[in-house]
Amino acid sequence: MLEDSSYAWIAVKTPHFRFYYEANTYAARHFTGLRQSAEEARLHALKILGEQNYTPIIDLFYLDSREKMIPVLGSQPAGWSEHQSNTVLLACNENIRPFHRHEIMHVLSMNLWKMPPLLEAWLLEGLAVYADAPCAGYSFHEIAAHLQREKKLVSLHTLVFRFHKQSDLRAYMQSGSFVQFLYETYGREKFRRLWERGVTRLPEITGKSYRETEMEWRAFLRSLDQTESEVDWQLLIEKGCW
Ligand SMILES: [Zn+2]
Repeated sequence: MLEDSSYAWIAVKTPHFRFYYEANTYAARHFTGLRQSAEEARLHALKILGEQNYTPIIDLFYLDSREKMIPVLGSQPAGWSEHQSNTVLLACNENIRPFHRHEIMHVLSMNLWKMPPLLEAWLLEGLAVYADAPCAGYSFHEIAAHLQREKKLVSLHTLVFRFHKQSDLRAYMQSGSFVQFLYETYGREKFRRLWERGVTRLPEITGKSYRETEMEWRAFLRSLDQTESEVDWQLLIEKGCW
């Protein structure tokens, strides 16, 4: 990205980040706030991970639109990260909130916790989504409870083994809720063990069968769902959290 002459980067170096943005962009106008959000996201990820420090400097690029991702990625996600090179790309403008917490969690979790034996998308994404809660003002449990009420929750087996075959929004929201449930019910250390050993070890870690763990989570969602609050699905699509 730094060598691509179609971008004219302004660089700002701090103890934890090297920030890059272009002149006359949203990021240039809001840099102070963005920088604070990045620092806050780093601390938030450390807290969830139960770690004291992360020493590598993260290269964080702000792009003025999703289209600006195309020359370097060939696609146009709102956020992207690569943990090996400690690089984060975030689109941000008046309409796109930069997903600091999500992408910075990817970088820290994949470097500070031992990498899972098989890359399990539901876990990697679920933890990043959980770090970025709430989504458009809704908790992930509220969203998952709504999906359950509408009979749109996919089975845990489908979520875990066919994550990328599901609609992105549904798979990400559901993973966020399930990860948060596991983390808060069984604690960070057990969750970390699950991350490091893989979902096949779930029964060992929760002390319950796969099916029982899923039922426990679903019952928890039902118990929260007294108010039957409606979730504005269009708003989730527009605001995004993944
Ligand atoms: Zn992600």
